[in-house]
Amino acid sequence: MTNTITLRLKPQDEEKLYNAWKDFERKAPAYAKWQLKPEACMITCYESGKTLFQGKDAEIYAAPFRKDVSSKNAKKTLQTTHDILPQAGSDEVGTGDYFGPVVVCACIVDQTNIDLLKETGARDSKKINDADIRKIAPELMKKLPYSLLIVNNQKYNKVHEDNNMVQLKSRLHNQAYVNLEKKAKLPEFKVIDQFVQEKSYYRYLNRDPVVIHGIHFETKAEDRYPAVGAASIIARYAFLVAMDHLEEQYGMKFQKGAGPAVDACALQFVSQFGFEELPNVAKMHFKNTEKVLAKIRK
Ligand code: MG
Repeated sequence: MTNTITLRLKPQDEEKLYNAWKDFERKAPAYAKWQLKPEACMITCYESGKTLFQGKDAEIYAAPFRKDVSSKNAKKTLQTTHDILPQAGSDEVGTGDYFGPVVVCACIVDQTNIDLLKETGARDSKKINDADIRKIAPELMKKLPYSLLIVNNQKYNKVHEDNNMVQLKSRLHNQAYVNLEKKAKLPEFKVIDQFVQEKSYYRYLNRDPVVIHGIHFETKAEDRYPAVGAASIIARYAFLVAMDHLEEQYGMKFQKGAGPAVDACALQFVSQFGFEELPNVAKMHFKNTEKVLAKIRK
């Protein structure tokens, strides 16, 4: 099924979208700022402010940026699968942030700890402020079986030479489940907040020695599945702690995201510590790097 979704995105969301799929950039058509062609979807951001998602997987790529929730399909699965217990869920954090690591967490929620999630008010980490994340996450980490992968910037930049962001995410999610399986019995029902088509996910794992199969993929899963919500909170917490360490190490504050404040921050960093230090704190393939370079060459 081919479809087209048109969205009007805020500049910071355009930037986020661009950074997420930058590896798939192609020549932009007339009147477009840029065009990206990841698998089964073409994303075109026009100067008019409209962004078009076209193709079989338009829904998957547009979902994180849509205000109106769920398609009909999603509603159907909501009633049938979201309350299955036990469930394992995984989510990642930091892929849209220029500074800091990428973190993936997978965890298990069952009948015995579902109430804890309700008590702590755990849900999608994007909807909880950082102060609350710092309170809730340690509670979850005491009670839920979880595995956590933190890819620091040096490692990220190296791995990114051979893996695009989607491949990297696929391999990290798989590894998180592999590690989780060593700590606890994996439930039959496992869900990933969908960032790629199922077929591509498994294709990206063709070199990995152990692959966890039977995963359910769904967009906006962090809102619907307690295990994905909890995973996103733990991942966000680990990201915040990693940022604390970086800030302590360099004695400066790092901005989150990838917008203009981040450009200014990157410039400050480079003027203080030199460009050659940047790969230790930033994801170098982001557009922000070019902007810094353009400024310091002036
Ligand atoms: Mg996610």
